[in-house]
Amino acid sequence: MAELILDSVSQSYGTRKIIADLSFTLPEGAIGCLLGPSGCGKTTALRCISGFEPIQSGEIRIGGEVVSRPDWMLAAEKRRVGMVFQDYALFPHMTVSANVGFGLRSQSKAARQARIDELLVLVGLSGHAEQFPHQLSGGQQQRVALARALAPRPRLILMDEPFSNLDVELRERLSIEVRDILKREATTALIVTHDQNEAFALADWVGVMHEGRIQQWATPYNLYHEPANRFVADFVGQGALVTGEVINDHQVEIELGVLNGHIPVECGDTGCDECVRSCHVDVLLRPDDIIHDDDSLMLAEVENKAFRGAEFLYTLKLPSGQRALSLVPSHHNHAIGERIGIKLAVDHVVAFRRE
Ligand code: ADP
Ligand code: MG
Repeated sequence: MAELILDSVSQSYGTRKIIADLSFTLPEGAIGCLLGPSGCGKTTALRCISGFEPIQSGEIRIGGEVVSRPDWMLAAEKRRVGMVFQDYALFPHMTVSANVGFGLRSQSKAARQARIDELLVLVGLSGHAEQFPHQLSGGQQQRVALARALAPRPRLILMDEPFSNLDVELRERLSIEVRDILKREATTALIVTHDQNEAFALADWVGVMHEGRIQQWATPYNLYHEPANRFVADFVGQGALVTGEVINDHQVEIELGVLNGHIPVECGDTGCDECVRSCHVDVLLRPDDIIHDDDSLMLAEVENKAFRGAEFLYTLKLPSGQRALSLVPSHHNHAIGERIGIKLAVDHVVAFRRE
């Protein structure tokens, strides 16, 4: 395990810049996630870190050691980095046990067997040691792939869309299991995904990527509640933007009332250092920012509803015609077209300057 630092890393294929100025610090033992839409450069970033791709500017350091800089890179096999791929890439003619022990061939037979046993217990596959990959489910195969990557005790584990071949329900369970396994091995890990739920379930730190750049590197909580710009606000979580006007450095007025910010109102958009009085902004309202209250005199019309089991996600039409979302306990089953009482419960004001 070791700290991973990317410092202003850029990479191009020919003249086309794929990643630009990529910087983040993943502390030792932490789990990080690069989250972004397909084609934004996530796999390319992992290939640079694992040593399969040269970089054109900046520096990559693992455990304080420079492993990549322009015109020089430490060979992939010398980086002590473990990889887990989307398609597991297990050796089909080797047993589970032989797959896990693959990277341990230089060790004594006893030491090797002890490490294999330990890892099979860790990933919950002790009873499957002599089976072959095709006899296992997709989720079990992915756990074998993780055990194989962990076996030589790498300084860093990299995983590229590790759950994308699995069905949704299994993905969520496996995300939690993998987090638990990585934490018990105290491994630093960087995982790439386009699935926000996966990133939130797995990671201590998430970097939202768009067009080769990190838009924000933060905890899942801060990404959701304090998105740095419109892209992050839109990509992470659900929500709606409503128009507002800045009153002073900690208050914004929207049609439902005045919002008080715990932090000064600063929109993340470039070209705006600080919002000033009368600045026109768009205010982000998350579904948990609007609470349904039958006794409230403030009304909104139910325009649409989605049943989520414990909750309904209502799309509400506000008096001005703007839309907002609200999560409501599902025993409040209101009809489309009905006007229901609402009130605001906004903890963090997120506003972006309106052009
Ligand atoms: P992601 O993993 O986020 O989906 P990738 O890192 O795979 O994105 O790809 C980022 C961009 O780089 C894409 O536009 C892709 O077409 C391009 N790209 C990836 N690999 C190569 C390559 N070997 N040569 C040229 N372009 C590539
Ligand atoms: Mg990819």
